Amino acid sequence: MRIDVSGSGAVTLDNVVTCDGFVYGYPIRVQTHVHEDHRAGFNDSKGFQHILMTQPTLDLLTVELDADIPYRGNLEAIQLDQTVSRENCQIRLLDNGHMLGSVQVEVTLPDGVRCGYSGDFAWPLEEVIEVEELVLDSTYGSPNSVRKFTQEEANNQFIELVVERIKSGPVMILAHRGTLQRAISCLDDAIKDPFIAGPRLFAELEVYRQHGYSLTKVLNTGTQEARVARDEGRYIRLYDTRDLRPTDTGSATLITLSAYMSRLDDPVLEYSEKSFCVALSDHADYKETLEYVYYTGAKKVITDNCRGGHGVELALALKQELGVDAQPSTNQFEREWGR
Ligand SMILES: [Zn+2]
Repeated sequence: MRIDVSGSGAVTLDNVVTCDGFVYGYPIRVQTHVHEDHRAGFNDSKGFQHILMTQPTLDLLTVELDADIPYRGNLEAIQLDQTVSRENCQIRLLDNGHMLGSVQVEVTLPDGVRCGYSGDFAWPLEEVIEVEELVLDSTYGSPNSVRKFTQEEANNQFIELVVERIKSGPVMILAHRGTLQRAISCLDDAIKDPFIAGPRLFAELEVYRQHGYSLTKVLNTGTQEARVARDEGRYIRLYDTRDLRPTDTGSATLITLSAYMSRLDDPVLEYSEKSFCVALSDHADYKETLEYVYYTGAKKVITDNCRGGHGVELALALKQELGVDAQPSTNQFEREWGR
């Protein structure tokens, strides 16, 4: 198959480009964003492939991984929306709204056929790749995943909840990277109290600041200012999914940001008086996913059935709703290291 997803999660575009995974013999890897489920085989890729990504993604990887990243000649940041020529292919990366630095990938092959990968994406988008063949993220690929509220409504209810809860004590916010930073930006105008982050997250937030996020009131947990804020009892503590969870939240309110555990008809789910889940999401839902495919113009679609999504259901729906040739990825391992 010209396009597919391997058993380890590498999206393969012809025999030239892998996205978010490693396959031996493919000269180029595109890293669409920094989330862990898209980082399989990154060390192998560093040894064997030329790796393309955006500057924010490169900066986030540099903060998180080893110090040699800025000095490696085979990691290259390229501009959004600029076509680069590599291995006789034209490659273009477009923003996909999922998190800082995240992209859709469009590859024009030497024979003129264009194929691409959505990456994890949000909707709506200003610009969409134009391809004949597409590998599609299937996170919310089930027809049961249609939200009855907009992200703006979810954002507003989230802000209201924090404004209300912080009156009676600290608020703890737990979210995936990307969602967390978006949440802080949302709250920036509405909340006067400081945010506190651990050292690793704090360093990462610095990258977001450099790339234009307004994150004005975040304190590093070890500092005197953070201690004062904690003593005063009015602050927002930030955790991403890699942080140790708070074991005793005391008088604090815990707000988890996830569309995965939430209801489809209400963005706020109350677990208890002090524990909530709000459906802030950086993924398109089912209907939005179909809309995205329509705008790419793809006539053949491979749904990513490797990253725990709904590849089979989504492929069926794409056939029925859009009449495109769609099938789930094969997830074969055989080509990872050649035969
Ligand atoms: Zn992601």
